[in-house]
Amino acid sequence: MPFFDDTPSGGEDTTSFCLPHADVEGFDRLFRLALDLRWSWNHAADTLWRKLDPVLWELTHNPWALLQTISREKVERVLSDPSVREELDRLSEARRLADLEPGWFQRASSGSSLEHVAYFSMEFMLSEALPIYSGGLGNVAGDQLKAASDLGVPVVGIGLLYQQGYFHQSIDSDGNQTALFPYNEPGQLPISPVRKPNGEWVRFTIELGREKLWLRVWKARVGKVFLLLLDTNDLANTSSQRGITSELYGGNTTLRLQQEVVLGIGGWRCLDALGIEASVCHLNEGHAAFAILERARIFMKSYGVNFEEALAATRAGNLFTTHTAVPAGFDRFSPDLVLRFLGPYSGDHLGLSPETFLAMGRWNPSDPGEPFNMAYLALRGSGRANGVSRLHGEVSREIFSPLFPRWPLEEVPVGHVTNGVHVPSWDSAEADTLWTRFCRKDRWLGTLETMGEEVDQIPDADLWEFRNTSRKSLIEFVRHRCARGGLPSGKISRGPEELQNLLDPYVLTIGFSRRFATYKRPNLLLLDPERLIRLLNDPNRPLQLLIAGKAHPQDGAGQALVREWITFTKRPDVRGKAIFLVDYDMLLAERLVQGVDLWVNTPRRPWEACGTSGMKVLVNGGLNLSELDGWWAEAFDPKSGWAIGDGQDHGDDPAHDRAEADQLFDRLEREILPLFYDRDARGIPVGWVERMRESMGTLTPRFSANRAVREYTTSHYLPAAKAFRFRSENQASVAREIVRKVRLWEKGWNTLSFGEYSVTVQEGLHLFTVRIHPGILPPDTLKVELFAAPEGTKPAEHHPMEWVPENPLPKDQSEQKNADGWRTCRVQIPLLRPVGDYTPRILPFFEGLSVPLEAGWIAWQR
Ligand SMILES: *Cc1c(COP(=O)(O)O)cnc(C)c1O
Repeated sequence: MPFFDDTPSGGEDTTSFCLPHADVEGFDRLFRLALDLRWSWNHAADTLWRKLDPVLWELTHNPWALLQTISREKVERVLSDPSVREELDRLSEARRLADLEPGWFQRASSGSSLEHVAYFSMEFMLSEALPIYSGGLGNVAGDQLKAASDLGVPVVGIGLLYQQGYFHQSIDSDGNQTALFPYNEPGQLPISPVRKPNGEWVRFTIELGREKLWLRVWKARVGKVFLLLLDTNDLANTSSQRGITSELYGGNTTLRLQQEVVLGIGGWRCLDALGIEASVCHLNEGHAAFAILERARIFMKSYGVNFEEALAATRAGNLFTTHTAVPAGFDRFSPDLVLRFLGPYSGDHLGLSPETFLAMGRWNPSDPGEPFNMAYLALRGSGRANGVSRLHGEVSREIFSPLFPRWPLEEVPVGHVTNGVHVPSWDSAEADTLWTRFCRKDRWLGTLETMGEEVDQIPDADLWEFRNTSRKSLIEFVRHRCARGGLPSGKISRGPEELQNLLDPYVLTIGFSRRFATYKRPNLLLLDPERLIRLLNDPNRPLQLLIAGKAHPQDGAGQALVREWITFTKRPDVRGKAIFLVDYDMLLAERLVQGVDLWVNTPRRPWEACGTSGMKVLVNGGLNLSELDGWWAEAFDPKSGWAIGDGQDHGDDPAHDRAEADQLFDRLEREILPLFYDRDARGIPVGWVERMRESMGTLTPRFSANRAVREYTTSHYLPAAKAFRFRSENQASVAREIVRKVRLWEKGWNTLSFGEYSVTVQEGLHLFTVRIHPGILPPDTLKVELFAAPEGTKPAEHHPMEWVPENPLPKDQSEQKNADGWRTCRVQIPLLRPVGDYTPRILPFFEGLSVPLEAGWIAWQR
């Protein structure tokens, strides 16, 4: 990758930037460190940044902005200190070695054909210094990118650079939220323009309707991997075009569609422009699904095939991850809007009629009014698809089942890979020290098998001291933040004594922070405010509460929930015990998950596709109390945490909300508070510590991005890369064959028929025989199987039925004999279930084809 060369003569040369003091010796190494977002999880260089400018460092945690701002004298002074020079040498060398070190991927998958995985996402949460994220989706993308770096998986991220990130929250004393949009000044963000060796900034155009749109390319370095960012704020564009990447999740549907064209089509074209041949395209949510089209277009050009054939080849290398738990969550656009921006592109370059193109995003292609659904496009253009937790996999199969009529629900082709968090990004310094003492330093770089045993070795006293220290430093952080104006309506009104009385470092501390969307039910605890107040003021076993979260600027109901909490925290009997912290962002989330004893999550099942915030407390010894939804539905074990809900869906029934609120209070009053305050002679709550140990040891590795990325690699990236190569070989001969087969099935499926069906018993085995007329379809394009649906604990059964060979008569006679075309299929099996449970069925067959995702036909004997 020539543009990513990081040597002094390469792409990150000082001449790429308007960098001050580039001639000061050692400065080049500083800026290379500052431009590698590894500092967002590896804090080895923090002391160095603090030395350069303690104030700015404390306020921004952005070393790149710091280097842009600092005076020459200061740099020279700090760098003239031999110990600083030594430290800088050490850090640069450590970084060089980390880059060279073969990762898990190189060790586990040497010789694989996986060169690059292009990972598309609308948002990436990597650091508060790069505010191009909103919440959970960006968290998943950012954490997976970091884990890919740790593991050496060759991922390149593709996203958008927004001139304004997601909004910042300000709240007045009445609890009204105001959305603020500070400007993302690119020169202050830890990113750099991508330049050609001759210094030219990489820019290119795409078509937006009949207009040309210029895109610029930036890059963020994330350890061993890169994130490419596109923006439209190029002087060559018209003013309205320049605003396309103005803000994340803002504007109207037109802006959203334009952004998705930039991300999908611009993103894939960007890879092409940089000479990056990605064999796998991972779509993190349907927003980027247009990448499917551009990938196919480029394939059409290089292989001389039509769109259908190009799609048959490339989709094998596309993976779609859906994050939505309700159909209303999908992006849908009106057909007119889609044609306005993509009609010329799909007609001129893909050779598609408007109807054929729109059909890719529709359930019913012949309904001209049906909107264009990005998730449908993503699914129709991918060779594999997954949800983000076990439960969400089930929910997604239900949501997508209309696209697979007559298929059993469990065979709807959407699996799951449960999300995980990048543990080194979310652990505290104290947690890192503790884990390093008992597990290895490099514990997050390989497989995680022995971790549970290692955590078992940690003595109770160490775990409890760790918890106390962590809670204390969170409380100091909160006091500090409040003094600086982190509360609604600015600074805390009274003096420093008030600040000292804010929270108690020995009290059970609960964190409750999330987007204030109604489905998250952030007010569940407020359904019984008096009961909550009693708990906050209990003289023997009190609890305290830290709340944070933003409501989308257009979500009035969410903002009302913010107001409800603010009103509550203003009550005199609650002050200092329940605190609403303004402007929930990555930094605040980090501090909260590191310090709280208990993380509470109350989504309305099954709306939380996965949820990740609760996973962030695991490494830090925090415990979870959560609805049995998303990840917690598969993680919950009474040995390591608490659950509410009955594992069923109840819609938005207020009576059920009320019942769950009661349950929440019962858990707190009867189980959680007693356990926390039940101390032994040493002052240790042994039962609590036991749960910490269980949660840390068993759940931390399971719900880490390390596990998730390894799972994606072995179950999806490697097979997808292989399938894509196989289909592209010999001028895409396999892809062409697939298209021929699909045409055949399309034409001939209705000519199939079933005849006589019988079951006989032979030597204790059951022989199932069925007569089939394949119509105009050659039998070798069909798979006949005997199927039994799953029932209770009995799994589904699939028994391939063989075509009985015709009599070995001379060819001409045999053809005569079978002139009527009926053939026999049979299978002999030991019977596990009643005969009536079994049914013969016919599916399309072609080696390597994903059925029903790529060919959804099916015929049932009954
Ligand atoms: C982790 C995180 C999220 C995702 O949290 P969930 O409550 O699990 O959806 C959202 N925002 C921020 C700032 C986070 O750190």
